[in-house]
Amino acid sequence: MMPKKTVMEAEMSRAMARAAELKQDALEYLKVRDQIPCGMSPEVQAWVQVRKRRILQVLGGTEKDWNNWKWHMRNRINDVSVLTKILDISTFESRGITKVGRTYRWAVSPYYLSLVGDDYLNNPVYLQAVPDPRELLPKGELDPMDEAGTSPAPRITRRYPDRLIINVTNQCAMFCRHCQRRRNIGEIDQHASREDVRAALHYISGNPEIRDVLITGGDALLLSDRTLDWILTELDRIPHVEIKRIGTRIPVTLPQRVTPELCEVISKHPPIYVNTQFNHPLEVTPEAKQACDMLVQAGAVLGNQAVLLRGINDCPVVMKKLNHELLRIRVRPYYIFHPKAVRGTSHRWVSIEKGLEIMEALRGHTSGLAVPTYIINAPGGFGKIPLMPQYLLKLEPDKAVVRTWEGRIVEVQNCCF
Ligand code: SF4
Repeated sequence: MMPKKTVMEAEMSRAMARAAELKQDALEYLKVRDQIPCGMSPEVQAWVQVRKRRILQVLGGTEKDWNNWKWHMRNRINDVSVLTKILDISTFESRGITKVGRTYRWAVSPYYLSLVGDDYLNNPVYLQAVPDPRELLPKGELDPMDEAGTSPAPRITRRYPDRLIINVTNQCAMFCRHCQRRRNIGEIDQHASREDVRAALHYISGNPEIRDVLITGGDALLLSDRTLDWILTELDRIPHVEIKRIGTRIPVTLPQRVTPELCEVISKHPPIYVNTQFNHPLEVTPEAKQACDMLVQAGAVLGNQAVLLRGINDCPVVMKKLNHELLRIRVRPYYIFHPKAVRGTSHRWVSIEKGLEIMEALRGHTSGLAVPTYIINAPGGFGKIPLMPQYLLKLEPDKAVVRTWEGRIVEVQNCCF
């Protein structure tokens, strides 16, 4: 038998060797992490402040206006002649934007545009906000999720047994170029009529199996405080509705909208889950953090649904950094959506192999809290399908052969009682 001291020394030496191995894994990421711009970094904030001053100058706004979300909505940039005064874009680019704009509407809040640096063609905010001539490629469908065919009542989309969506507006602070509902954006901003919302609420109250209602759009947080309060109050009156969810990009594209008055409304109607869509660490800014802090203090539970987009975030390092930054501002990474085959977005489509590579780079390599579920949506509105790398290699009545996050093949017992 080995002396106790020798056993302890052997254990310590094993632990040290393992810790060195794990440290090496973390160092690989740390070596490249800082190449990804983050909205919280002083370098990024330096260019953001310059761009913000330029935008205020061009639009004739003040610092007070900058903090007013209605000013941002009134001054969304949707004209190339204004954009070219703010960003030094080429004639070639501006012609392309004008051409796409004739088919697909575009608009971007001054706040969101302030996140674009001089290297605009490689900037993930510019790429999400400003039209690209490739949007005119004839690929994809207008409504691949068949939302029209899954709407049993006005403004309702129902794809699951116990939950559904109410679509309350087509208005957004920024019309994302990858939007799955771009067919609804149309030419003018339009909130749902009270009559339609009443009909949607009537459908929910008549279907007692519905326990979870997602209010979305467009951007649900662009409703007035009063209308949002009315809808939430009506939902609270329906006994079988247990939770409300709000789908919004406001913390990303117009965090100034998160006001004390809005938070008062949110705080009156618990439980509320707010699902947002941060797609890149550049979008995690001090303003976004403040908006998320206020929502959390109002009692909302925050989750993020990122969309995987070619040339924007289809990279394991970007996704890992995004998820870390989100956890720091109390937003739980919830889903990574595989891009849908929406017409006009084909230049951002990504292979499933790439999505799996990202998931492989997250699981085990970082906190489970920073690992969202990778989802592909079934065409035709048949719902979400989770995808993950293959960890189960063989399953037998008494044992399973599995692969660890580092690629070690191990056998585990399969309990059959
Ligand atoms: S905020 Fe949502 S609904 Fe609006 S354009 Fe972006 S993805 Fe589409």
